[in-house]
Amino acid sequence: MSSGSGRGLAVRRGFVIIAILWGGGCAEVLDSIDPDAVSPPPLSSFDPQVDELLARMTLDEKIGQMTQADQQFLRDVTDIEALFLGSLLSGGDSDPAEGNSFEAWRDMYEHYQAQALKTRLRIPLLYGVDAVHGHSNVEGAVIFPHNIGLGCTRNALLVEEISRVTALEVRATGINWTFAPCVTVPRDDRWGRTYEGFSEDPELVRILGEAAVRGLQGANLSDPLRILACAKHYLGDGGTTWGTGTVGRGENDFYPLDRGDTRLDEAEFRRIHLVPYLSSIAAGVGSIMPSYNSWNGEKLSGHRYMLTDVLKGELGFEGFLISDYNAIDELPGDYREQVKRSVNAGMDMMMVPDKYRLFISTLKELVEAGEVPVARIDDAVRRILRVKFAMNLFEGSQMADRALAERFGGPEHRALGREAVRQSLVLLKNEGSVLPIPKTAARIHVAGRGADDIGMQCGGWTIRWQGALGPITEGTTILQAIRRSASAETVVTHSPDGSGSEGADVAVIVIGEAPYAEFLGDRAEPALTAADIQTVRTVKSSGIATVVVLLTGRPVRLGPIMESSDAIVAAWWPGTEGLGVSDVLFGEFNPTGRLSFTWPRELIQLPMNVGDADYDPLYPYGFGLSY
Ligand code: BGC
Ligand code: BGC
Repeated sequence: MSSGSGRGLAVRRGFVIIAILWGGGCAEVLDSIDPDAVSPPPLSSFDPQVDELLARMTLDEKIGQMTQADQQFLRDVTDIEALFLGSLLSGGDSDPAEGNSFEAWRDMYEHYQAQALKTRLRIPLLYGVDAVHGHSNVEGAVIFPHNIGLGCTRNALLVEEISRVTALEVRATGINWTFAPCVTVPRDDRWGRTYEGFSEDPELVRILGEAAVRGLQGANLSDPLRILACAKHYLGDGGTTWGTGTVGRGENDFYPLDRGDTRLDEAEFRRIHLVPYLSSIAAGVGSIMPSYNSWNGEKLSGHRYMLTDVLKGELGFEGFLISDYNAIDELPGDYREQVKRSVNAGMDMMMVPDKYRLFISTLKELVEAGEVPVARIDDAVRRILRVKFAMNLFEGSQMADRALAERFGGPEHRALGREAVRQSLVLLKNEGSVLPIPKTAARIHVAGRGADDIGMQCGGWTIRWQGALGPITEGTTILQAIRRSASAETVVTHSPDGSGSEGADVAVIVIGEAPYAEFLGDRAEPALTAADIQTVRTVKSSGIATVVVLLTGRPVRLGPIMESSDAIVAAWWPGTEGLGVSDVLFGEFNPTGRLSFTWPRELIQLPMNVGDADYDPLYPYGFGLSY
């Protein structure tokens, strides 16, 4: 695969060292962005092929390309062929009917793709999943740290490499598109999606988001080992105002921040939230997902100025826009009005998980009534087809490459996961140098409900939409990692509630937040549970040194833990490779992670971000100890 297809410019970028400035003006050098990175050919360079195909398409075929159904809601698999569907997705809980194994995913994908290839024009499907930290819906995939942890590594090359490996694991199942990277800039840690963001600092998100796009898509979208990326959620998803959020599915559910209203003037809105999209576009991102949230009262999913004038006009984005899951249903008016508003605002493909038939008939009516111009339809389909041609979907193999199966979840990928975990850990406190723990300690007591729980280690968007506790997939728990890494003579004991630690040399207590994802993760007060605090106290009362490892999706209130711990490590939601945690605990790796979010003293301080006027955090942005 070379980028020398002769279509576009292959510009060799210079070797760039990026320095990040923060807080008190201290600087840190981030690893360089790949010096060999080349700019992909512009998507519009595929217009000659697109024009030829577009000229042969009927209105039904065009509208089909603009439609994305969730496979679990397909009324009939032949709908793919009959309605000319351009895309399918598996949402967070949309597993294959045959179960959640690698093979079931691959079979499912191939079955659907084969249907699309029966259509008159044989236009292949784009199949989208939320592979947001590895191929995270599929059992046995390597699960990498969530973006919040990767932000603390400040290592663009590492993020690019993780994204490359994620693309490969996704491709191994045949799937060709991920709704990632999330380049949100979360400004209020009470938001349940904080962990999906690399940082509260737009500059760090800009750099790592670009690295993720390069890793996922490669230098050229036609690379059969890479996949289509999707920068999300455009725009201002992380900037919503407390109390403007959404009503949930249950009667009395209200989520104060998720899908809310971002109230900022345009200059601030751009300065904080738009910046990461500039670098994603420069890296050639082929799709962007407009957000559920509003900007000063107007929903982004129907925002003509932000979608068409700014993104496609001013920023020159040549790829396509995919709506968020049922997002058009949140626009004002009836369904007809919602579809009309969104398409006319510039939305190109609609994620209409179950209502796809209604969407198709509604859009057709609108076109026939002259309320959605044919030129708009052509523009939308052109953008989608550009990406399909750029990916070489028509000529390359549409089915999964069997040779990739053995690399899925394999040792090479797990080693990268372990490296990512080591670099993502932030050492917050280390009194009396209790860390690193000597490998030859006579006895280590491991406690806490997170110590032996892969699900808690992985967090949200893992196997299930909201994530789940328990042995949900393959991996190494922190307890297993400690057992494996300690010397043969060391006795490792374990109790989830901290009892029985008396007499140990040191205790490692793994506590934190149980997994959550969008809206269900909004919290008025992100804090540790009373039970977790009690676990630490129980251990502390036995008089031994206590090391607290936090598994959380954001900074949480530490409160009494500050007194009852000697060392604290923020491990975020590190994923399946627990050995990365034990590497740091035993000093195999001297911690290098630096906070990519501000850690508050009290929750009343939220929202609090680096650069604020009265900045008085417990641990400032950029903080992190080493041995
Ligand atoms: C989320 C997106 C996700 C999509 C598909 C939405 O609810 O906001 O981040 O990509 O669902 O699962
Ligand atoms: C789906 C997710 C989606 C969410 C949106 C869930 O049922 O599994 O993919 O993001 O709904 O509300």
